[in-house]
Amino acid sequence: MKPFSLLIKPASADCNLRCEYCFYIDHLENGNSNPRMTIETLEIMIKSYLSTDQNKQYAFGWQGGEPTLMGLDFFKKVVEFQLKYAPSGSTISNGIQTNATMITEELAKFFGEYKFLLGVSLDGPENLHDYYRKTIGQKPTHALVMRGIERLKQYSVEFNILTLINKQTVKKAKEIYQYLRCNEFLFHQYIPCVEFDVDGSLKPFSITGEEWGIFLLDLFDEWVKDDVKKVSIRLFDSIMEYLVYGRYNVCYMQDNCVQYFVVEYDGGVYPCDFFVEDNLLLGNVNNNSWEELYNSQTYHYFGNQKSNWNEECNLCPYLKLCHGDCQKFRYGAPNHSKQLSSLCRGWRIFYTRKLPRFKIIAEKFKKENNINGIFPFKIPKFRRNEQCICGSGKKYKNCCGSPKIATEP
Ligand code: SF4
Ligand code: SF4
Repeated sequence: MKPFSLLIKPASADCNLRCEYCFYIDHLENGNSNPRMTIETLEIMIKSYLSTDQNKQYAFGWQGGEPTLMGLDFFKKVVEFQLKYAPSGSTISNGIQTNATMITEELAKFFGEYKFLLGVSLDGPENLHDYYRKTIGQKPTHALVMRGIERLKQYSVEFNILTLINKQTVKKAKEIYQYLRCNEFLFHQYIPCVEFDVDGSLKPFSITGEEWGIFLLDLFDEWVKDDVKKVSIRLFDSIMEYLVYGRYNVCYMQDNCVQYFVVEYDGGVYPCDFFVEDNLLLGNVNNNSWEELYNSQTYHYFGNQKSNWNEECNLCPYLKLCHGDCQKFRYGAPNHSKQLSSLCRGWRIFYTRKLPRFKIIAEKFKKENNINGIFPFKIPKFRRNEQCICGSGKKYKNCCGSPKIATEP
């Protein structure tokens, strides 16, 4: 078994908010309306995971829905079991993805004390954040999130900001980046909002590939001005990680989806957060060992579908950074994984324009830190009159090779 991490949903999809674009809330409406992980299942899960090897590095991610609905006593039990069953000399990390609206002083103090890393969902300034992120009673949430963040700061809890890029925000890269920057948030993660309707069309709050590409270009331009060494943007860090060390640190860049396990509130285990589906149920922590779950044919079928990509990917110069993209963005995956990612054009626009700059930054970093080794990636060179790789059908000089990108509004 290769090392794996756990992403646990102790309250399943239950949440005190009703963000319009949430992809997980259907799991609540279709099942138990008050799902909570029992202490028995929690103990079995922690004990069995900590009895696997993992090179003594164990990673727990707590997510939902909203995991803080479980309350402080639940997380006290988490730490109690982790301390009880941890092999000697092991390292345990806990991350929580939260909307931060229910962070009390007690929770913040506890998370600070036990070094939990929080991912706080914040879609930018008030007007942008509140557009889709509302309470069950349709009230705005921005002020509640900022109150939660203040409490985290008060108890020195480390946190990242997770920003979903949707139809309302996709043209506001500069505004969002500067807002986060002005608030001295230095760890950013931008997540494209892509949800399909049953007929394969994009839902209204989703973004297109082209919009994603232009968003990334604008974001890069803001970041590169002055913040390369000051602000961490997860995607940019991951590109650098690959260019400098030849390593991947996000699943969507890799060539398979055998990456981690999702554990639902009832102990049910699935291969990925985006694919908690009945036909992909691998087993249950109450009945199956991690070895059985890892060796499940379904797990490996799902994992291998990542590299069952569209034929176009075989010719793509960015294959090593994309590997056909996340299966979530290929309509019908995993069974129809050859469908081209709906973000494909965005990745091509971004990489065609900005990879050469990343290469310069990576080479400089290597020199400053005495890192030797072969550059893992050949940055393609384009002739001005060749057709542009981004898929626009235009000549390179009139598209991504133009000083002003032709697709810009
Ligand atoms: S489907 Fe996407 S999120 Fe899930 S493991 Fe694969 S790359 Fe990662
Ligand atoms: S950018 Fe597009 S063509 Fe290239 S690997 Fe990714 S999905 Fe495939």
